[in-house]
Amino acid sequence: MTQQTADILIVGGGLVGQTLALALAAQDFSVIVIERADPQAHLAPAFDGRASAIASSTGRMLRVLGLADLFEREGCAIRAIRVTDGLSPLHLHFDSEEATPAEPLGTMLENRALRTALLERVRAQPNIALVAPAEIVSVVRDSVSARITLADGRLFSAPVIIAADGRRSALREQAGIRIAQWRYDAAAIVTMLSHELPHDHVASELFYPAGPFAQLPMRDLADGTHRSALVWTVRAADAAGVMQLGPRALAAEAEKRMGSFLGRIALIAPAASYPLGLHHAERYSSQRLILVGDAAHGIHPIAGQGLNMGLRDVAALAQTLTEASRIGEDLGAPDVAERYERWRRADNAAVAIATDGLARLFAVPGKPAAALRRTGLAVVNHIPPLRRAFMAVARGEAGTLPPLLRGELG
Ligand SMILES: Cc1cc2nc3c(=O)[nH]c(=O)nc-3n(C[C@H](O)[C@H](O)[C@H](O)COP(=O)(O)OP(=O)(O)OC[C@H]3O[C@@H](n4cnc5c(N)ncnc54)[C@H](O)[C@@H]3O)c2cc1C
Repeated sequence: MTQQTADILIVGGGLVGQTLALALAAQDFSVIVIERADPQAHLAPAFDGRASAIASSTGRMLRVLGLADLFEREGCAIRAIRVTDGLSPLHLHFDSEEATPAEPLGTMLENRALRTALLERVRAQPNIALVAPAEIVSVVRDSVSARITLADGRLFSAPVIIAADGRRSALREQAGIRIAQWRYDAAAIVTMLSHELPHDHVASELFYPAGPFAQLPMRDLADGTHRSALVWTVRAADAAGVMQLGPRALAAEAEKRMGSFLGRIALIAPAASYPLGLHHAERYSSQRLILVGDAAHGIHPIAGQGLNMGLRDVAALAQTLTEASRIGEDLGAPDVAERYERWRRADNAAVAIATDGLARLFAVPGKPAAALRRTGLAVVNHIPPLRRAFMAVARGEAGTLPPLLRGELG
């Protein structure tokens, strides 16, 4: 059987893998994406009912890669975020007006809409071959090249393989790259709510001892129904019970926690439950192999940063590979992978530690802890530079930004 060659092989066509393929194709690299699942199955509503908060910097990259229409059509700008300890009146308020008036803090998009738009772009891009569904039976990496064989006998080869195969990355495991990991005693219940009053583009994050309860503004439906995504963290042991509640009982429980600022609420999508954990690979590469996205790291969704971290990996890796190719370097050379890792590891580790700290801080039970948290929120709220520093991190604007995150193709 003939061997198909490309500049880069990507294993995993999830949100991160497909975005990377587009970013590399825009630099004239030839890319082969090998995805295990049938892409149509990934577009079914039951596959992933989540919505993601896309930070302003990663939003600029997706727009410049051809998804601007999607943001206009389906995106909902987050103009302010209100953080409180339970229903306490002391709060922390982040407002987009404070930094760049023209740019919101982020944009909410349904994952399904994002997947659909990415797949359309990937299929339309002549430099990308999407091979799916595909079962990998062997991966060989040596000093000459990296080669992948599929169960149907097809063979692919390139100087480098990028593993974008998610948190249980088989490529990472085969390479013997260990991960630091722990589980939280928590699960996220995710669903969509309709509500009587408009959200005014404000997201709320209310902290309870079992974990954060987040209401994230979504675009109104065509009939004018106001909507918000809900990410409700419950103790792991309670998740099955919550999932058994009918839509009305679940909406009533949600209303108890969020109060009535959005008027009457109702569930408009099935709920799904996700176990929560943190993992970080001890290194991001091995011979002719580089990790991105959840294959390299995964965090608590408390600040909606997991996908954004993966997309920031994409921007840095695309830039690193582009510069390497300009000076004729072997794309699979260890130096190239090391430059990418140096660029990304500190940011990923800092976000992982910050979200872990937040998740634990807000989980401490008792009145003294609650009083300390509430004062802390109020203090940060009254110190504009501190507030702006938090906002810069949430927007993904901290550190050296690769061109894609500035909205440039490079
Ligand atoms: C409840 C919850 C809410 C979240 N909210 C947010 C948010 O608001 N903002 C945010 O930034 N992040 C959020 N995240 C995190 C975000 O969802 C993930 O970080 C992101 O989806 C990871 O994308 P990925 O492409 O790296 O991995 P995945 O989505 O896991 O994709 C991996 C792909 O690889 C394929 N694959 C796996 N193995 C193989 C193989 N052997 N061969 C070929 N293909 C393979 C899979 O089929 C899949 O398509 C949230 C997470 C949770 C749990």
